[in-house]
This record gives sequence, C-alpha cells and structure tokens, in this order.
Amino acid sequence: MIVIIGAGPVGCYLASLLAEEFEVTVFEEHRSVGLPIQCTGIVTQEIYKFVPKKNNFVINQVGDVRIYAPNNKHIKLKLEKPDLIIDRQKFDTYFYKQAKKKGVKFVFNHRFISLNKNSLSVMDLKTKEIKRVKYDYLIGADGPLSAVAKNTRIIKKRNYFIGLQAIIKKKNNNIIDFYPLKQGFAWVVPEDRNTLRIGVASRTNPKGCNEKLKKLLKKYKGKILAKQGGLVPLFDPWSSISKENIFLAGDAAGFVKATTGGGLVPGLKSAEILAHSINNNLSYEAGIYLHLYPSLWLHLEMRKLMDSFTKTEWNQLVKDLKTKEAKKMLQKVSRDKLFQLLLSVALKKPKIMKYGIKHFGALF
Ligand SMILES: Cc1cc2nc3c(=O)[nH]c(=O)nc-3n(C[C@H](O)[C@H](O)[C@H](O)COP(=O)(O)OP(=O)(O)OC[C@H]3O[C@@H](n4cnc5c(N)ncnc54)[C@H](O)[C@@H]3O)c2cc1C
Repeated sequence: MIVIIGAGPVGCYLASLLAEEFEVTVFEEHRSVGLPIQCTGIVTQEIYKFVPKKNNFVINQVGDVRIYAPNNKHIKLKLEKPDLIIDRQKFDTYFYKQAKKKGVKFVFNHRFISLNKNSLSVMDLKTKEIKRVKYDYLIGADGPLSAVAKNTRIIKKRNYFIGLQAIIKKKNNNIIDFYPLKQGFAWVVPEDRNTLRIGVASRTNPKGCNEKLKKLLKKYKGKILAKQGGLVPLFDPWSSISKENIFLAGDAAGFVKATTGGGLVPGLKSAEILAHSINNNLSYEAGIYLHLYPSLWLHLEMRKLMDSFTKTEWNQLVKDLKTKEAKKMLQKVSRDKLFQLLLSVALKKPKIMKYGIKHFGALF
C-alpha cells in the first residue's frame, strides 16, 4: 500500500496518478480539502499541463503587469500569455475529486506523528487515538513544515519566506503589481474588478514583512475582507528528497520558485515525476534532476541576483528598461520567465550592461 501524508493539491494529484497501479491511502490533518487558504492563487498557463482548460477554478485572467522600483516608478508590461487567478479551494477540490474517482481512500482529521519500521503512526485528532499503519511506500506531501521530512531526517534544515496576505475590497483595472524586495517580494493581484489580493513575502524579516504589508494596504486603500499567512520554502538544490521507500513531493521537498514563491506548478510537476518513477521503478532523483531542477535552479540564481541589487540599482534598472526595444522583448514572455529575461535584456543593452557585469558573479 502507498501512504501519502497531506491532501493538498500535490498529495491529491499524486494519489490519482498512483491509484491506477496501487492501493493508495491519504491522511490529512484537516477535516476537509482546500482550507485554510494560504495562497494568492496566481499561476502561469503552464498549469494547463495538469488541469483541463474547462474548469470551475480559474476565476480571472490578467495580462498587464507593473514592476515597481523602490522609488515607486514602474515599467508596465503586457504578457503574451496572461496569468491565471484561481480559487484555491476549488482547485484543491478538483484534484481531490479526481483521486476519489480513481478509488483513493482519504482519512481526514488524522495527523502523521512518527515513523516506525515499515509502519507509521497517525493520531486521530477527534479521539486522540494513535493508530499504526503499514506501508510499502510513504510519501510526504505535507507542505512546507513537512513532518515526514523532519521525522525521517531527509531534510535537516530548511529556509523559508514568511508570507502575509490580505484580501481587500477595491475597484481596480485588472493589473498585477509586483514589487521586488531584498530577500523577498510583494504583490498585488486582482481576484476580480472589485477585489485585490495583496501580499508580502520576506526571508529574513517578519516585522518588515508586516510593515511592508501595512504600507501597501495604505497605498491601495480598501476594506480588509480577510488576512492569511504561511510559509514558503526556499528551494535548496543540495537537499535530499528521498530515503529508501520514503519520498517527498511539492512544498515538502522545497519545490518552489525562489523569485515569485510559486509552488503549484513545480509541485504538480514533482507529483508526475514521482508517480512515473514509482510506476516504472525508476529513480525519482534522476527524474527531478532532469525535469525540475534546471528551472528551479534558475529561479534560485535569479533570486540571488535580485538580492544583490541595491535600491538605487533597481531604480536605475527600471528606468533603463523603459525603452521601447527593451519593453518589446520583455512582453513576449510569461511572468515566470520575466526575471530571466530582465537579465538578458540588461545584458544586451550597453547602457544596462553595467548591471550584468557587476552582478553576473551572483549567478555562480
Ligand atoms: C501567502 C502564500 C501565497 C502563495 N501564493 C502562491 C501563488 O500565488 N501561486 C503559487 O503557485 N503558489 C503560491 N504559494 C505556494 C503554494 O501555496 C504551495 O506551493 C502549494 O500549496 C503546495 O502544495 P502542497 O500540496 O505541496 O502543500 P500544501 O498545499 O501545503 O498541502 C499540504 C497538506 O498536508 C497537510 N498536512 C501537513 N502536515 C500534516 C501532518 N503531519 N499529517 C497530516 N496532514 C498534514 C496540510 O493540512 C495540507 O492539507 C503561496 C504560499 C503562501 C504561503
């Protein structure tokens, strides 16, 4: 039997992919799927590799992006492929229903506690009873604080972004605002023409995170409908992802883009790679190194590069990128590739070359 800990999108997707060959049970500590929401729900169209275009969870599409410099000046870009805004609860429920249809057994209100030899312990959170469960394969899809990763010591130490988000009522023009920050980023994403999702993620400074959110709330002014928070793991290319018959996927393995905190697309991709390796008796690591590491590594290096920029340099970069030629290049890509392209545009333009030369070292 395969036991998966965590009924997030990654755990549910993985369960549905494995259920064709195996008996699969998913333990989830909450009483249902999709709540509490700790996500902005912005994804690139790459998500359509995992879900049908006809669905009930894409609630908005946004093609206009403004990237702000610290001095509040910005460049405005039109993405060739608009970003999608999803309803996270409905999104998670889609994967849950797919898994249920394939015969996966879900056990809610049960928390993974510890590991024994080829069995594990879960606690029934209603009765506090501890139950032992036997498994052939164990998969930790239990999010950024993964108890499976900790208990098995597959991951010994992890770094995080702390994310804070507020949903506000505010009439808007359907534009995404992105604020690159040192060791973090902030965003304003339109849920619809009357609602904004405003968030800040910071690696080092929870107090600063709160301050920045307060500043953005002052700038965008609107009635706060909800506040959410959560952790986003920083991808670590040196970290392990498995041990014998135990594997990690999604946030539990740290598969998140370091530039934007996007974990849904890489998490679902890791689920596909893991299902393929278990179904075909192949190496999970090899699959990940081939199909996921290159893009996550690039995002990590871009993060290092962004962190190495001073405020003055960001101001100058945004100013220099305002030329028609640079904007034309930047508009041809999805938001995911934007940061990589920022660098290549910077390197191509002699005026901006100085950034490339000074900071290129940060890439290696
Ligand atoms: C503020 C914020 C904003 C974000 N915005 C975006 C965004 O706009 N776009 C994007 O792509 N990504 C975003 N992310 C990241 C995204 O939410 C995650 O990458 C994604 O949820 C990972 O899915 P997962 O299934 O791996 O983990 P999760 O969604 O965290 O699911 C893990 C599941 O495991 C369960 N669990 C945990 N521990 C146990 C245990 N011991 N026993 C049983 N069950 C357990 C949890 O209850 C949960 O249901 C954001 C994250 C934060 C914090």
